[in-house]
Amino acid sequence: MQQQELRDTLLYSPKNGYDVLSQEELEQMNAYCEGYKTFLNAGKTERECVRAAIAMAEKFGYRPWQAGETLQAGDKVYYNNRGRAIMLAHVGTESLNAGTTIVVAHTDAPALHLKPTPLFEEDEMAFFKTHYYGGIIKYQWLATPLVLHGEVVLKDGSHVTVSVGDGEDDPQFIITDLLPHLGKERGKQPLYEGVAGEKLHILVGSRPLSGDDGKNRVKVEVLRLLHDRYGITEEDLISAELQAVPAAMARDMGFDRSFIGAYGHDDRVCAYAGLAALTELKAPKKTALCVFADKEEIGSEGVSGMQSAAFDYFLGDLCKATGADFNTCCANSFCLSADVTTAYDPNFSEVYDKHNACRVNYGLGLKKYTGHGGKSGASDASAETVALVRNLLNKHHVLWQNSQSGKVDAGGGGTVAKYMAKRNIDTLDAGVPVLSMHAPCEVVSKLDCYMAYRAMKVLFEQ
Ligand code: MN
Ligand code: MN
Repeated sequence: MQQQELRDTLLYSPKNGYDVLSQEELEQMNAYCEGYKTFLNAGKTERECVRAAIAMAEKFGYRPWQAGETLQAGDKVYYNNRGRAIMLAHVGTESLNAGTTIVVAHTDAPALHLKPTPLFEEDEMAFFKTHYYGGIIKYQWLATPLVLHGEVVLKDGSHVTVSVGDGEDDPQFIITDLLPHLGKERGKQPLYEGVAGEKLHILVGSRPLSGDDGKNRVKVEVLRLLHDRYGITEEDLISAELQAVPAAMARDMGFDRSFIGAYGHDDRVCAYAGLAALTELKAPKKTALCVFADKEEIGSEGVSGMQSAAFDYFLGDLCKATGADFNTCCANSFCLSADVTTAYDPNFSEVYDKHNACRVNYGLGLKKYTGHGGKSGASDASAETVALVRNLLNKHHVLWQNSQSGKVDAGGGGTVAKYMAKRNIDTLDAGVPVLSMHAPCEVVSKLDCYMAYRAMKVLFEQ
């Protein structure tokens, strides 16, 4: 073989997508990303993502699943798991005994949850106490505009949806930061310790209740406003899921608009890709499932997380509904644990192993394993499983790349993969590379978003 031929044959050489994609594909990519941005702006919380998913799926003929119903090929159903997670299925022409194709992504994201008794007044200013959710870098959440989203269940059991800050004239919220002029001592603290979790107090008011000279006049005035608008009292806030999330809407980033900056790419970028791919399916051979999971950021716990039996309940019933066996179905199924991966950042090159890092614009990152230390907590997909996916993506010209999150012992992370694998389902981690992961504004490349969607479509259609 000639030298060049040898190079082409022997070397693993992923390509920058901009050297590969046609003009037509670039246009499709841009159209896809506009849809994704709309989804992101509508889904700033887990529950909002579920509602957005239902709205989208119903347009494509999906309907609520009824436990115990009989199903046949072509049926499209979804299971809304308590408003916080959702599982959608398009029944295929093959028996479920031949296995299913599952894409699981999570739609919970790091945020500042309000404590059950959040409101307090200090020196005539009112604040909400928060309990941060997921792995946030605390200083990033100060001095950045926030909005308040969530649900409150009142004394009488009625449900109130709260959303303050997204409307053009809506007020927003903020956690104040210490001015540099007085920050000499704090500046000596390690970066991650400069802001205490207990001090993440959101400023919510300063106007006292008029005509009143009692205690906590500002706090009572805030409660009065909340009661006027939502009918809620302080005790109602105990049965609530309210969270402060970044105010900024999804935006193109860069002169060339090649990036999207937004809150919650982790992992709504994969969730949307899975949903978009699923809803476009015509008549899949294998039953296709897309899951928006909750609680991934805190270990997939809870009734709406992937450790919950809710998934088995749904898939088990789909099997029964079509005359298949649940265990056989799992043993023959494939799951893409679709969760974002770390994008190589030249500004922090010291934490990456360049030979195994994931680059923006190089496509979907396939992660044979995640975990930390000596692969602790990793699912570690088999060579056969990785081969199946890479060959399929190569065959359909979907750009993908090997992805590891950083240097050995630099840190690490986990996904839902191990909980799917526990069900005797072959599972591979894969996801869109993200810059500034878990920050109030995360960054992804449009090209990688599009490739994630293309990959999921190809998997569903195999
Ligand atoms: Mn994630
Ligand atoms: Mn995460």
